[in-house]
Amino acid sequence: MAANRNALALHKVIMVGSGGVGKSALTLQFMYDEFVELKADSYRKKVVLDGEEVQVDILDTAGQEDYAAIRDNYFRSGEGFLCVFLTESESFAATADFREQILRVKEEDNVPFLLVGNKSDLEDRRQVGVEVAKARAEQWAVSYVETSAKTRANVDKVFFDLMRDIRARKMEDGKKKTKSWAERIRERCCIL
Ligand code: GDP
Ligand code: MG
Repeated sequence: MAANRNALALHKVIMVGSGGVGKSALTLQFMYDEFVELKADSYRKKVVLDGEEVQVDILDTAGQEDYAAIRDNYFRSGEGFLCVFLTESESFAATADFREQILRVKEEDNVPFLLVGNKSDLEDRRQVGVEVAKARAEQWAVSYVETSAKTRANVDKVFFDLMRDIRARKMEDGKKKTKSWAERIRERCCIL
């Protein structure tokens, strides 16, 4: 962050989830007030995150992820993931597959990741209870948030919470690097 004052921090978000769950609608709702389209499904926006101006890249996946190689490349390029489902069973089950694929590709036990139950405005069609979704999120040690791309409920929250997770992860990784560098120096000092 402070290390390079000229470049804004950039946080890379990937939208994943079954077709029709609202990945595009959430992305467009978040982007609406100011957005630059990079290509069909990829967006960049400047936002103020806790007082710091940053950029967010959003890759809104759409079915191409059926091709494993393309999907893996997308997942590799992401720093954080919004895993969206409808509060209806089929897309909820798919979230477990998405999470597994992401962790495999990232070669990590945990990555910045939010479980997002979308279309909260359609409460009468709900099939997955809040408690069931929360239990899965807890098991994964991630947050569960319900959104509506229609009413805008929690739209900013999911993107900003994810960016905070990404930022925290980058700071942690930075510390690790500094530590191992310091350790290497210390080792050398001992030899000398
Ligand atoms: P994607 O395939 O995950 O990108 O899903 P889309 O964003 O294309 O959404 C699928 C359909 O659901 C579209 O007709 C959207 O207008 C609608 N939709 C998306 N989010 C919501 C929501 O929160 N509430 C309601 N009522 N409809 C939504
Ligand atoms: Mg879409």
